[in-house]
Amino acid sequence: MSNKNVINLDVAIIGGGNAGMTLAKNLAAQRNNLVTTVFEPKTPQQRNYCWSLWATPEQQAGLKHCERGSWHKWRLVSDEEDVLLTSKKFNYLCLSSTDYLQHSEDSLEGCIDIKRSSVDNLTGQHNFISQGQDYRAEHIFDSRPPLEAAYGLKQHFLGWEIRTKQPLPDTTVATLMDFRVDQSRGLHFIYALPFSNHNLFVESTMISRQLEDKDWYRQAISEWLCNQGIEVEELIREEIGVIPMEDVTKASSNESKIGAASGAVRLSSGYAFSAIQIQMATLAKGISKGNFVIPQTTSGFLNTMDNIFNSVLLSESRIAPRIFLHTAKALNGDQFAHFMLGSAGFFEWFKVVFSMPKVPFIKQAWRQVFKHD
Ligand SMILES: Cc1cc2nc3c(=O)[nH]c(=O)nc-3n(C[C@H](O)[C@H](O)[C@H](O)COP(=O)(O)OP(=O)(O)OC[C@H]3O[C@@H](n4cnc5c(N)ncnc54)[C@H](O)[C@@H]3O)c2cc1C
Repeated sequence: MSNKNVINLDVAIIGGGNAGMTLAKNLAAQRNNLVTTVFEPKTPQQRNYCWSLWATPEQQAGLKHCERGSWHKWRLVSDEEDVLLTSKKFNYLCLSSTDYLQHSEDSLEGCIDIKRSSVDNLTGQHNFISQGQDYRAEHIFDSRPPLEAAYGLKQHFLGWEIRTKQPLPDTTVATLMDFRVDQSRGLHFIYALPFSNHNLFVESTMISRQLEDKDWYRQAISEWLCNQGIEVEELIREEIGVIPMEDVTKASSNESKIGAASGAVRLSSGYAFSAIQIQMATLAKGISKGNFVIPQTTSGFLNTMDNIFNSVLLSESRIAPRIFLHTAKALNGDQFAHFMLGSAGFFEWFKVVFSMPKVPFIKQAWRQVFKHD
């Protein structure tokens, strides 16, 4: 039963995650007259994840309050190769999502309300119900996560933050992908971020269509730690996540979607943070001028290239580690960061495509072209 006393809003932001809170923070900074409310059922403490990105020193300075670690060297490793990249322009940052969200909530300073409740019933373009209360908003921005297709391609992972018994041998390098793990169930790698001498984040990540039991990822982490000679003193926390790697925008025609639900996730890598920051800053700027249209985050070209890349990974999972290593080897650290951020130019794309095994790519590119016809 809903309450028929309708509450009217100018702007309703549904979901106070990365996109929702970044938009709210930007709108609050404008000190505009729009009556705005964020609807988010969970506290920042209930959403404690590692959010990572490549950032320039200027961007890094703006994120200092939530930084867990920062590296200017990163590494991709397979049984055959070990590629180390160093960047002058970018650092690889890991942020605490809890700290980012808490800081964003604090910055609203009474300008924008947060309701700790979910929106479960969105009817039409303006009306919805939350906790039995009817609302009408002139503009709705909906960041509720996209539903992942049961058998769709996804990146799924389980990570541990641990305290180690012995000091870590090297805390200056972020391991983005270590493929020296079980590859029998799909493309699988370990991601490891040393926060300090005794503090490590380590994650087992799969790119496949099917989720695994939690114990499967835990086993992979334990084996990898054992192979590295790292002993666990304490398991501080565990995080799990699933990121769809297929175009989520086709599943819903709702034009009010922002963030990951609007397709802001890079399909070939799962990275979304930076694209969402740009999307929300641009949207807020537009709103200040009376333009409420949500900007696109990825170009058709980028999505097509990522789809080709993903279909090669799926069809040729045997050579998938080599494809990632070749991409890393073809580029220097700065170019690699641009590539991962989705801002690579023609020259970088040319270098990547040129370094790839040609036959699988041509085959999949051909399929993509015909699929879209
Ligand atoms: C565990 C995890 C780790 C990730 N790590 C990275 C990373 O390292 N780098 C990167 O770039 N990307 C990462 N991603 C991708 C990630 O999707 C984005 O970075 C980012 O969080 C997406 O922002 P968003 O606002 O679109 O979604 P979210 O941040 O997921 O926000 C959606 C919000 O909607 C709320 N919500 C859900 N249902 C309702 C409802 N019915 N009513 C109201 N609110 C609702 C949720 O509680 C949530 O807070 C990660 C994703 C996950 C799940």
